[in-house]
Amino acid sequence: MSKRVYTVTMTEECKACQGQGLTHDDRWEIVYANLDDSAEDIEAEILKGWGRYHNYHVYRVGDLPAEDGPCPECEGAGQIVKEVDLLDALRELKVAFSPDAFEGDPHDKGYHEYEGKNTAILLPLPF
Ligand SMILES: [Zn+2]
Repeated sequence: MSKRVYTVTMTEECKACQGQGLTHDDRWEIVYANLDDSAEDIEAEILKGWGRYHNYHVYRVGDLPAEDGPCPECEGAGQIVKEVDLLDALRELKVAFSPDAFEGDPHDKGYHEYEGKNTAILLPLPF
């Protein structure tokens, strides 16, 4: 028989954006905090700030990095979906097929009767 690998889909909250799907570029805060509000041309001040604090030299504010944008990690979904090996998933969930499932007293082992056949059942691992 050809080798088979069983996988399951695992969905987890994106760690990069805590499930928000958005990221905020904190570099903007530094520029805003040091902005000269009395300046006539605020846009020029913003460009100056980006040059001074982040070594960014562009001619238009529109060419600067966006303040908020879709999270690059999850592409705005807020969650990461991965295909993982079924056995790895069971291990992570601390569940395993009992190795003793087919032996001994059915009442004190991981032993189960299903449709007249002895069947291994899922048991929590002892850790
Ligand atoms: Zn994300």
